[in-house]
Amino acid sequence: MRKENGIDITFDQNHIWHPYTSTITPLPCYPVTEACGVYLTLEDGTQLIDGMSSWWSAIHGYNHPQLTAAAKTQLDKMSHVMFGGITHQPAVELCKKLVAITPQGLDTVFLADSGSVAVEVALKMALQYWHAKDEPRAKFLTLRHGYHGDTFAAMSVTDPDNSMHSIYKGFLPEHIFTDSPQCGFWEEWNEDDIADFSHKLAQHHQEVAAVILEPIVQGAGGMRLYHPTYLCRVRELCDHYGVLLIADEIATGFGRTGKLFACEHANISPDIMCVGKALTGGYMTLSAVITHKHIADTVCSGEAGCFMHGPTFMGNPLACAVANANLAILEKNQWQQQVEDIEKQFAYELPIIATLEKVKQVRWLGAIGVVELHQAVNMTEIQQAFVNAGVWIRPFGRLIYIMPPYIITSAQLSCLTQAIYQILNT
Ligand SMILES: *Cc1c(COP(=O)(O)O)cnc(C)c1O
Repeated sequence: MRKENGIDITFDQNHIWHPYTSTITPLPCYPVTEACGVYLTLEDGTQLIDGMSSWWSAIHGYNHPQLTAAAKTQLDKMSHVMFGGITHQPAVELCKKLVAITPQGLDTVFLADSGSVAVEVALKMALQYWHAKDEPRAKFLTLRHGYHGDTFAAMSVTDPDNSMHSIYKGFLPEHIFTDSPQCGFWEEWNEDDIADFSHKLAQHHQEVAAVILEPIVQGAGGMRLYHPTYLCRVRELCDHYGVLLIADEIATGFGRTGKLFACEHANISPDIMCVGKALTGGYMTLSAVITHKHIADTVCSGEAGCFMHGPTFMGNPLACAVANANLAILEKNQWQQQVEDIEKQFAYELPIIATLEKVKQVRWLGAIGVVELHQAVNMTEIQQAFVNAGVWIRPFGRLIYIMPPYIITSAQLSCLTQAIYQILNT
């Protein structure tokens, strides 16, 4: 496998951990040397159409001239400067934009490093909020099949089975899980769907600091697309019991579901919102937590006198500059039309895949297409089959899903769905 001066795959296999992989039985990794538009280029020159947007993030495609230019321009001014006691234009501009485009009332921004850290920050805000109100609360209420990240607090509100809570027992805080929504996005709403949530909140509201959930799309925990009325009911019940609502829009934010933020499907505004992933268009890690001024002020009125968090690379100017360029492209590109076109094509092409024997169900929303199988895939085999077919699609378990860059053409998107059809039809 190792080429002269090429990427040393053997070293990689023997010494480098990839996401959720074993060092005993490492799965093959494909060496990518370049990425441009919707194409990833492998070391041997093979070009693959990207169906993943590098996990929800590269929404405008790779090596976008404006994003690259924004990074280069900022690099020549300053890559980084501490955010303690210092501020700068890229951060101020970004926070202004976030306040302007996020749901009503969200007007105070905390910049963080990654999605998981944003979730940690949101949970800490909720805890400090109740502490400041002299009503300390230590529990969070969340949904089964959720995913909120891999750090400890984020993991504690992620699905207990999927994130193997059993391994960390005694160390991981134990929170309250309700049944996940069963009513699909396009199905008729059934009021029974909210019963377990309603019951658990009624029972525990005095100890619950906040409800945390992924609005409309439960991503890494099962690619489940649920009914907007569920989210409306959650907002109503949180208001009724005076519990904070944290919306984790890290995957859904910036247009992926057909709305700029998934909360808009239910016309609700959360008390705290986390964004990440697509924030820099897939260029680098950056996340943000946005809340209401009165919540921020309550947090700061407590014993600590401030919010107790401040990462070294907070507000990184390079990342903020790229995020600003990313949001400018989002506005100019008419993302809504792009995502709508992708959704229409899914509605036409995914049902064809649903006719295959191996397929249990297909579903879609915005630029998210999901094929659920009866049985888990063989990762090594199917990954190679996709690469042979000229596409980059990375399934997990029983799920083959695609969330392409918004700029994908209809012909390129057909290559993705046809590759899935052909590979499942063998
Ligand atoms: C990916 C993701 C996270 C974690 O983000 P990282 O940047 O990987 O730490 C949290 N919540 C949701 C909904 C996500 O999809």
